[in-house]
This record gives sequence, structure tokens and C-alpha cells, in this order.
Amino acid sequence: MTSILALDQGTTSSRAVMVHQDGRILAQAQHEFPQHFPAPGQVEHHPADLFESTLQAAREAIAAAGEHPVAIGITNQRETVVCWDRRTLEPLGPAIVWQDRRTTDRCADLKRQGVEPLIRRKTGLVLDPYFSATKVEHRLRDPDLRRRAERGEVAFGTVDSWLVAKLTGGLHLTDPTNASRTMLYDLGSRSWDPELLELFSVPAAMLPDIVPSSGVMGESAPEWFGRPILIAGNAGDQQAALFGQGCALPGMAKNTYGTGAFLLLYTGDEVPEAPGGLLATVACDPRGGIGYALEGSVFIAGAVMQWLRDGLGIVATAAESERLAESVPDTGGVSFVPAFVGLGSPHWEPEARGTITGLTRGTTRAHLVRAALESMAHSSRDLLEAMLDGTGLTIPRLRVDGGATANRWLMQFQADLLGVSVERPDYVETTALGAAALAGLAVGVWPSLEAFVAGRRFEVSEPRVGPAERERWVRGWRRAVDATLHWARG
Ligand code: ADP
Repeated sequence: MTSILALDQGTTSSRAVMVHQDGRILAQAQHEFPQHFPAPGQVEHHPADLFESTLQAAREAIAAAGEHPVAIGITNQRETVVCWDRRTLEPLGPAIVWQDRRTTDRCADLKRQGVEPLIRRKTGLVLDPYFSATKVEHRLRDPDLRRRAERGEVAFGTVDSWLVAKLTGGLHLTDPTNASRTMLYDLGSRSWDPELLELFSVPAAMLPDIVPSSGVMGESAPEWFGRPILIAGNAGDQQAALFGQGCALPGMAKNTYGTGAFLLLYTGDEVPEAPGGLLATVACDPRGGIGYALEGSVFIAGAVMQWLRDGLGIVATAAESERLAESVPDTGGVSFVPAFVGLGSPHWEPEARGTITGLTRGTTRAHLVRAALESMAHSSRDLLEAMLDGTGLTIPRLRVDGGATANRWLMQFQADLLGVSVERPDYVETTALGAAALAGLAVGVWPSLEAFVAGRRFEVSEPRVGPAERERWVRGWRRAVDATLHWARG
């Protein structure tokens, strides 16, 4: 038997998955850990919790699989900042989580100083507290920590680095996908950027070495699993999911339909120009080397179903939405733009709010529910279109994952709306799959990404409508979005 252990350290839980060479999932285990909210807008994790929940899940998955993995692949919540003592591996303070907004004012200051274009050009990111740089800068306001950091006694890293340090007993590494989310990494030169380090006053001595996402980077100390295991894969969660879905050629994309939707389009081996509201980021090429992707999100996707259920009470469960949508031939002219928190890319209008257009006396809850489901597909299409327009690429298909992909009607509508097939793998923890693939490629468990993906079965929704019908749908949606924008700007 030959298997890989994927460790997926997420924002609310840590998961471990044993993936067999033939693609079977041998075992998985998952542990939640506490979230800390010390003040409004602040989110922290205890680094010890991150490691221990991961370790516990790993031990359980190995025990349940009944075999030792040949290698470990790591994937993680991105951007979250951890500092620790290089010698003792003691955490120095809490992890500041990607969701944490405490550096909002600092970002506003930096914008006023006019540095955003520089940051955008080098990192592909937007100047926002989301990314690591202002978070580590904030930690270094502690004079003791700064003094020690300047002496080289303090290590800084994203969560992957922290796990590698703990697992190996002190290696200090990261991979290019994680590095590209720190706002300290230059996409073009593929290295930490001295100008950005200076801007954020981050001593270079704190930073991890950047090693390939796929490749043996060390081995776990024998104390953790009874024997050493090679650590051979590492990528941030979204890039791991893209890779796990087999998307490593220009024009291949994955969309995750969760609370929001998360779309990544692999663009190739040159840094892409990111249209407004989108990010350019490092992704993994077919061998796990450096490639690039465009990344963007739809703020409200599955959340619209939660609102219909909990806010309006017109569906009992999200699953019921599928039956309701199927019970009517169309939305009866209703469009639903769920801009509850503004409209994202490509419209970018923070003042927008949810809008329902085209109501008549004949409108029923089935029409509303159907329009809500359609909105998830339309918002995703808008985002994808912005990416494709910017790059000149076309997509052969869309790979999908996330909770709302359980809705087959939605997947069919998405295929019809895009005019390409929509493919959902039999195992939707694609983040863990990507980490396994990166490690397995490095140690020869799979000869290629294609061979890895051949272990999956995909449920395929083929487009069934012609371009005229599609155009009509898009026109209806645009009209509703225009109404939403008009209201927001009126
Ligand atoms: P997250 O990881 O963001 O919490 P999940 O991937 O677990 O999200 O997906 C949950 C989301 O999917 C919820 O917003 C829920 O309303 C939506 N969802 C779940 N099942 C369905 C369904 N059958 N049809 C439509 N939406 C669904």
C-alpha cells in the first residue's frame, strides 16, 4: 500500500486525509479549535492549537488507515501570521488571522502615501488588512519582539511555516503560493522584495526560505508519528484546491461554492495583469513549480440560500431549493441580485444592496428561490468573464467544489449559462487533494498531475442550451445589476 497524508490546516478546523495511490480516500479526521475575538474586528488563533489539532487529526487518520504514509503534504489557511522563537519553537503571541481588520487604519495611511500602485504591481494584491504584511508590522510594534527579531531570534511565517517548524523541529520554510499572500513577495522576481520589507519594517532575518511547493523539504521528527515521514508538498489552501482539481494549464479554473464563491483561473507562467477587484497570485504549474493565477470572489453565494431559509423562511433547507427551482420552468421574469454587502468584481460597488426585480402578482416562492440560485451562477459567470477578458483566455470546462455543488440543478444551470461543462469530483475536499498531489508528485507516488487526477471520478453537467437562450439570460441579469447599481449611485 502506498499513501500520502494531506494536512489541511483551515480557519475553523484542522483536517488530515490519507489518500491512496489509486485515488481512494483511506481515512480522514478533523478537529476544530477555539477562535478568539479579543476586540471587534480582531480574530486570533493560538499557534499551539493550530499545531495540536493538526497533529491529533494526523495521528487519527494514520491509525484509521492502518498504514504509514510515504510523505506528508501541507495546505493551510493563508495570510495568517505566526511568530515564534527560532530556538525553542515557543510561539511569541497569538496568530493574527487573515480575517483580522486591526490594521485597517494603517492600510488607509499607506494608501494616502500613494504606495498602493507599487504594491499592486509587485505583489498582485490590493492594499488591504487581509494580507500578512501589515499584520506582522503590527506585531513588531512590540519593542521587545522587534529587538529580538532584528537579532535573528524570531521566526515569522504563515501557518504552513509554523507547522513545518514544529513537525521538523526547527526548519523555517514556506512555498511560493503562501509567500505570494504576504504582500512581501515580488511575483516577477519570485522572491522576498527588499523594498516591501523596508516599507513594512520587516527584518529579512525573520523570514522563511522559499522552497518549491512540490519537493522533499524535510522530515517530521520521529516523536510525532513513531517514525520520520518526508514532508514533500506545501501550498496555500486555494492554490492547493486549484491543483487538486487538476487545473494547471492556462484557461483551467475552479470555483468553490460555499458561503461565498471562490474562483481561481490558472493563467500560465507569466504574471497576469489583474483587472480591478481581482488578484494575481502564484499557483502551481503541472509539476508543482511556479505558475500564476487570477483569483476573485463572489461575496454572497450559498449565503443567499441561508437568507431565504433564516431571513425570509421560505425554504426549510438549502437542499429544498433544488426541488423548488425545478418546479417552475423559469423565474417568471424575476431577477435577484444578492448584493447584501455590495457588489464585487467586476462591478465593484460597495454601496450596492440586494435587489429583486420583475415581481408580479404571479411570482411565487419557487420563482424567488430559482432566481436566487441563478444569481450564484450569474455572479460566478461575471467574475470569470472579467478574468477571461483580461487575459484573452477561454475555458474548456469549469471544475467545481464546495457545499452548494450538492445542488445538481445549480450545476446544470451554471453549465448552461457558461456554455462549457461543469465538473464536480467525487471527493470535494479538493484542498487536501492538492496537498496530497504536490507531495505525491515529489516522491514518485504519481508520475504526473494527470495521473493523480485520473484517480477521481467527475460528475459532469454538459451545457444544453444554445447561445441565444444564454444571451437572453445574461441580458436579464445585466438589467437587474444595472438597476442595483443605479439605486446604489442614485
Ligand atoms: P463554507 O465552507 O463557506 O462554510 P460550504 O462549502 O460548507 O461553505 O457550503 C455551505 C453553503 O452552501 C451554505 O451557504 C449553504 O446555504 C449552501 N448550500 C448547501 N447545500 C445547498 C444546496 N443544495 N443548494 C444551494 N445551496 C446550498
